[in-house]
Amino acid sequence: IQPPEKPLQAEEWNRLRESFKSPEIFEEVMFNNMVRYNSPIDVAKSLLTHLAKSNGDIGYNLLVKYLALCVQQGKTSEIRDVYDILKIRFKILESGAYNLIIRGLSNSDQWRMALTLLEEVKKIMIPSRTNYESCIKAAGRHQEMTLACELYHEMLAKDMVPTLDVLQAFFDYSRGMKDPELQKELFGILLYLRENQIYPHKTFMWSIKLWFESIPGENWRGHLTNITDSGQCPVCNHQLEDSELTEEEYNNLSERIIRDVIHGTDTFRKTSPQEFEAFQTFVENRLPFDIVIDGLNVSHIKPRKMQCENLFEAVNCLAKNNVRLLVLGRKHMLINSSNWKREIMKEMQNKADFFFAENISEDDAFLLYATLRSGKHCKFVTRDFLRDHKACLSDSLTRHLFRKWQRGHQISKKKFLFFFIPQPAFRYDCVVQTTGDTWHIPYKDTFEEKYSYRVPRKWLCLHQKY
Ligand SMILES: [Zn+2]
Repeated sequence: IQPPEKPLQAEEWNRLRESFKSPEIFEEVMFNNMVRYNSPIDVAKSLLTHLAKSNGDIGYNLLVKYLALCVQQGKTSEIRDVYDILKIRFKILESGAYNLIIRGLSNSDQWRMALTLLEEVKKIMIPSRTNYESCIKAAGRHQEMTLACELYHEMLAKDMVPTLDVLQAFFDYSRGMKDPELQKELFGILLYLRENQIYPHKTFMWSIKLWFESIPGENWRGHLTNITDSGQCPVCNHQLEDSELTEEEYNNLSERIIRDVIHGTDTFRKTSPQEFEAFQTFVENRLPFDIVIDGLNVSHIKPRKMQCENLFEAVNCLAKNNVRLLVLGRKHMLINSSNWKREIMKEMQNKADFFFAENISEDDAFLLYATLRSGKHCKFVTRDFLRDHKACLSDSLTRHLFRKWQRGHQISKKKFLFFFIPQPAFRYDCVVQTTGDTWHIPYKDTFEEKYSYRVPRKWLCLHQKY
């Protein structure tokens, strides 16, 4: 049912309610639709008044729906009124109502009240990320950057992952300010992008560029550019960070992972200890490999082909030039079936080492172990994985090295599909980087929330002009 366009009298509401097929949920449906059609507030108010007069009681849910409508239309005084009513009637509100009120007030000239509410929420529960972000943006909009930063750190301390939207807001609201502390904060955000291998999207990149160029007296200049394959920036001639780890970095990383991730906890191990031990012995007797392949994953590359054909094609293509291959297979591949032909499997085993795990095994530990034990040159082919291991890579240096190693050594499914050859990894590292008087920031053309290992080719080059 479509909500009326004008406020109705009591009889008119009654009539409408009678004509509705399930009168007991009439108000609920009506309010939902008012939110959907963004009905005028006084129409909603007339229904509330009618309800108050006939029942004397308006339920929590209806009040919250009315609140949603007020927030949607930025009606500050109504938001405050509903809040007062809710407070008197229910004492404690749930997070949905708080989200609405804080969002509503933070967008108004009474934004400081949103902060008071945030404090109130903190007393009874952990505020949501939206609560924080509403308040941060409100503070930013009113040029209270110190306050915005405080809230931001509070949020991080609660392990909340900020949206790109709020990070971008920091750059937008700090434009033109000369404040060394604030500048440090924004550099911190850029380093946060670096550490978490986040690539800003185009509009975010634009905010970063404008902010740099607006810092009074610092003469930052930003240019959009493509980096050459050798890793040199055509704008400032700066050579980007090398994508290879040093010998020492590699040794540290592989020790840490084998100790903490593979042997440390079994949270990430879905196989039995016996099977993993058998695998270790198998690997140690055949080291080193040049490429480790997750056979099951590769077998799905071209969906219209037989799985063993996909794998065969991959093995054939990678087996050139005396490359030593290890394929991690599953036991079911050995049973002759429509997808796994025995003759093809046999032929493949002449070209590569195969380890067949139990059918249930889906275990990154196998792949990590074989690749890391093979040494710095060894690459691996699998789906985009290894996200879970981040948690056990507790310190940021190890995490950074791990990501860097992954960027340089993972032959992604996509690369595989398009070129079907191991692409030479970029010689430079695709990650936000700085030398102090230069910043190079890779960015994506489109906004995608989904995590992706596809590295962007476009860069923002920032340098100071003296
Ligand atoms: Zn440059």
